[in-house]
Amino acid sequence: MKRRKALKKIGLGISAGLWVPGVIWSCKKDDPGPEVPYSDTVVIIGAGAAGLYAADILHSKGINVIILEASNQIGGRVRSLRNQKELLVQTSADFPVELGAEVVYGTDSVMGKIVSKYNLTQIDLTTQAVDQFVLDNVAKSKEGWGADSDLNAVLNFVNNLPTYSGGNVSMKQAAGVSTRADALLNSMAGNFYGSSSDRVGATGVSDDLKTKTHDNKPFTVKTNPLQDLLSSRFNQIVSKVQLNSVVKSINYSGEKIIITDKEGNQIEAGKVIVTTSLGVLKGGGIAFSPALPSAKVASMNKIGMDASLRIIIDFKKNFWGDNSGYIWGGTTGPMYFNAGVARSEFYRTLSVTIHGPKAQELSAQGDAVIDTILAELDAIYDNQASLFIRKEINDKDGTEGARIWFKADWGKDEFFKGGASYLMPGASVQDRENYGAALNDKVFFAGEGTDTGGDAGTLNGALNSAERVAQEVIDSILST
Ligand SMILES: Cc1cc2nc3c(=O)[nH]c(=O)nc-3n(C[C@H](O)[C@H](O)[C@H](O)COP(=O)(O)OP(=O)(O)OC[C@H]3O[C@@H](n4cnc5c(N)ncnc54)[C@H](O)[C@@H]3O)c2cc1C
Repeated sequence: MKRRKALKKIGLGISAGLWVPGVIWSCKKDDPGPEVPYSDTVVIIGAGAAGLYAADILHSKGINVIILEASNQIGGRVRSLRNQKELLVQTSADFPVELGAEVVYGTDSVMGKIVSKYNLTQIDLTTQAVDQFVLDNVAKSKEGWGADSDLNAVLNFVNNLPTYSGGNVSMKQAAGVSTRADALLNSMAGNFYGSSSDRVGATGVSDDLKTKTHDNKPFTVKTNPLQDLLSSRFNQIVSKVQLNSVVKSINYSGEKIIITDKEGNQIEAGKVIVTTSLGVLKGGGIAFSPALPSAKVASMNKIGMDASLRIIIDFKKNFWGDNSGYIWGGTTGPMYFNAGVARSEFYRTLSVTIHGPKAQELSAQGDAVIDTILAELDAIYDNQASLFIRKEINDKDGTEGARIWFKADWGKDEFFKGGASYLMPGASVQDRENYGAALNDKVFFAGEGTDTGGDAGTLNGALNSAERVAQEVIDSILST
């Protein structure tokens, strides 16, 4: 019989990433913390932020790790346009343009601290950018709208979410704003959290905001693509990632766990950490044997993960205003972002983020989606969008060709099946905990959707979940 050792808590040591352009990582080289004796391998499914960080922590403890990643690159939903080598045309932007996560929340959050350690210049979106709000097809700053009661009703609702104590209903029901302010509410209290205001639960978001232990200041990194930042920070385990490895099944019924990929290759592990998105798991992307317990599935079903689109559009002129940050309130594009604000002299790239039913509708339009978005921008900005969209120039005769824009359809991508997880009306943070609960001390779950520290749906949530799951794995090793 195996004797259970006393459960020892071990501090989560981190290995030091080496460098990002021009910046030397300042930690001491060898401070991996105490070793955890383990003769088996921990296999991590997914090389997004959660998978990379969990692997990094375990590796720093001397544990053998392998990371299986389905796609052809690391980073997951952190994906920078510049790194997409298959693109024939690139944006004219001289600042990082992101296809997934683009804003870091919290200067003292886990991701905020990574950025600080590298001494990278941050653009504080609360002081260096001015948000615009669209009502009646007009975009103006808060000051510009003056005492508009509809705008103020939305802002008051959103700002007071941390103290929300009403029913566990949708944002739309909880806010009860006028029809004129509906799209604005949908942008700020629905789309921002991963879907539409009639799908996102007010209590879930409020509980997350109450739980947060860091400041929630939004910022961008001036010159470094976030995907490069992850590669640098986790460079010690990047060599452990096996790209193009699509895991299809995990059999944890025996002593050893058997993981099978799309090609039928099998790999054995002592423990597995699953970091694939909720969308992938709910879509049956990985078959578990034995099947996932019904309580876990019931909780997963109370968490949403909807269609998601990022559209990047290059213009010849910034017609939306130099210091604009977010432009909230569009019905087609609920979240336009002036991606270059305070990062560059050239503020000519708009990043559009659409989650939920609207993303599904626009995804179905295929490439015609650009016309739908330009039509909305034309209506708000006096037809300037169609006029100033940048086009390819024919080298020979100088004539203009195709319009320059990019699309990432996260909902359609089988390795993501959505944008970000959110608690539906009626759900609670307990559902995230149930979703993240380990199976038989063998299969562990991480990823933004499992975070219970107030950061679910974000990069910080993914990183927090990695710290939690690494500790769980270490505890489980030390207890046997
Ligand atoms: C459009 C968009 C905008 C966003 N904006 C922000 C933002 O501004 N700020 C912010 O903080 N967050 C933002 N987010 C959310 C943030 O990107 C995610 O929360 C975070 O990156 C999730 O990391 P993760 O490791 O949990 O999951 P993922 O990044 O999804 O990583 C999971 C990995 O698993 C892999 N995988 C999937 N299936 C398999 C399989 N069968 N076998 C092997 N591997 C598999 C995937 O390829 C992926 O690499 C945004 C997300 C989207 C889509």
